[in-house]
Amino acid sequence: MLLEVQNLYVSYGKIKALWGVNIVVNKGEVVALIGANGAGKSSLLRSIMGLVRIETGTIRYDGRNITSWKPWDRARLGIGFVPEGARTFPDLTVEENLIIGGVLSPHKRAVANAMQRVFELFPILKERRTQLARTLSGGERQMLSIGRALMSNPTLLLVDEITLGLMPIMVAQVFSVLCQLNSAGITILLAEQNVREALSLAGRGYVLENGRIKLEGSAQELRENEAVKKAYLGI
Ligand code: ATP
Repeated sequence: MLLEVQNLYVSYGKIKALWGVNIVVNKGEVVALIGANGAGKSSLLRSIMGLVRIETGTIRYDGRNITSWKPWDRARLGIGFVPEGARTFPDLTVEENLIIGGVLSPHKRAVANAMQRVFELFPILKERRTQLARTLSGGERQMLSIGRALMSNPTLLLVDEITLGLMPIMVAQVFSVLCQLNSAGITILLAEQNVREALSLAGRGYVLENGRIKLEGSAQELRENEAVKKAYLGI
């Protein structure tokens, strides 16, 4: 087991975002987190990255209890995060945005190698390497956001709603990249509102509702589940 979240509670003041969430992600898997707006998907991913204060619960990664670790230490350990909304630095170039993603790397050479791999994966970013991020299209910014997370050579990639607002053709492209990354050995935990695509990439999934895990199962079980079909697949 690579990641284990146990009995996680998160609140923002009076708003309870997560209520006793338990999930497990095994090495090599793609796991989908499904749920409506406000269900708690981002809160769960951000808790795993160490970006929100949790009330109670335990987060274990690769056998270690990382519950109180700082985000950068989790990044060093191999957890990468692609935040919702492709947050890139608009006034920095593509290359500079990537360098920031590699800032935890001990050697310049490692940064250069990681950037090379990102450019192989996203040739368009290589073409645009000297352009400011603000001049990229939505899809290109999304790729830059993934590329930046890859600069730290993550073993586990947490991906938050990256297809939001993208045209269907870009959605397909982004999923194909995620599939490639998984084939290359990266484990992926994916919050996604494109449930059909998410369940075709993922082997397993969890359905979050009002901060609780409502359902879990293989992608096939979830696809065939009547409640999932009705609420998320529009069937
Ligand atoms: P979305 O897809 O809309 O991002 P989500 O499933 O990712 O939804 P979260 O963003 O985790 O859900 O939100 C869970 C609940 O916590 C929601 O009720 C949301 O309004 C609330 N919430 C999230 N972040 C904060 C915050 N910083 N302050 C106050 N409430 C918050």
